[in-house]
Amino acid sequence: MIPFDFIYCRPDSLKEASDVYIQLRNEGKTAVYYAGGSEIITMCRSGSIRPDAVIDIKNIPECTVLKIDAQKLHIGAACTLNQIKESKFFPLLGLACGRIADHTNQCRISLGGNLCGTIIYRETSLPLMLSDADITLYGPEGQRTVPFLAVFNGRMQLKAGEFAVQVHIPDWALEARCAHIKRTANEKIDYPLVNVTALWKDGFMRAAFCGICSHPFRSGQIEAVLNDRSLSCDVRAEKVLGLLPEPPYGDVEGSGKYRAFILRNTLSSLLEDAENGKI
Ligand SMILES: Cc1cc2nc3c(=O)[nH]c(=O)nc-3n(C[C@H](O)[C@H](O)[C@H](O)COP(=O)(O)OP(=O)(O)OC[C@H]3O[C@@H](n4cnc5c(N)ncnc54)[C@H](O)[C@@H]3O)c2cc1C
Repeated sequence: MIPFDFIYCRPDSLKEASDVYIQLRNEGKTAVYYAGGSEIITMCRSGSIRPDAVIDIKNIPECTVLKIDAQKLHIGAACTLNQIKESKFFPLLGLACGRIADHTNQCRISLGGNLCGTIIYRETSLPLMLSDADITLYGPEGQRTVPFLAVFNGRMQLKAGEFAVQVHIPDWALEARCAHIKRTANEKIDYPLVNVTALWKDGFMRAAFCGICSHPFRSGQIEAVLNDRSLSCDVRAEKVLGLLPEPPYGDVEGSGKYRAFILRNTLSSLLEDAENGKI
């Protein structure tokens, strides 16, 4: 049970959503955008947030788009992980969606919620960081479409009142050679100890990570090492550990030392598989 009353708004357009946010703010009320609601409801129940209003974006047509046109795949922020996985449009993103939570929750958790929520893993960001994706945002200052990496720095950098509308993935990435490796402590659907996601463009391996640090990231220095074929796979994997943006993350699922051990082994076997033509 949620132990307080709140206003529920379900706008039909982007402008209506933003207008209602502004109106609530001018009335001194706090509002959050709402998609799957799994995180918002849990946090309201536990008392860690207490919004005066939620603005449900699932009735906004632009937020539920899932289509390919001549050059790009467009995915609305309110699309569920299961819809994205089942569409099979972008297999690498489908693999990420298929390993977050269980099937019931995948039918509820949205792409925008995974990217903009507080849970640190944000695993759908990894394929987007690698694929030259763009993202469309809407807010009180209007609409903007920008490279995903311009507004995602471990977490979404949104302006006040702004929300995610769609991501756009170029067609080269949809069928590109790729790998998705998620290591967990217990169950297959657990939070990741380490997630290594790779996408090749013109023979160059791009790689993004989460679980190993407190936020998802992609690093040019790490990619340079991973693609340095003058070094053995083991040496490259070991060198990556020295290039992490922060010390390995530790929690009850696994210590930082254990996560580093898992990452090194995962990278070494990924590189070997890639070089032996198994990927
Ligand atoms: C059982 C379970 C297991 C999970 N396992 C994993 C996992 O393994 N890996 C992982 O990465 N995550 C995992 N998660 C986390 C999950 O992806 C996030 O909690 C996500 O926020 C839930 O999405 P939602 O659509 O329900 O979000 P909501 O509860 O609707 O929203 C969450 C937050 O995102 C904001 N938001 C939602 N949509 C938008 C938008 N379009 N624009 C701007 N802000 C928006 C909301 O305002 C709110 O702050 C798990 C969650 C559950 C319940």
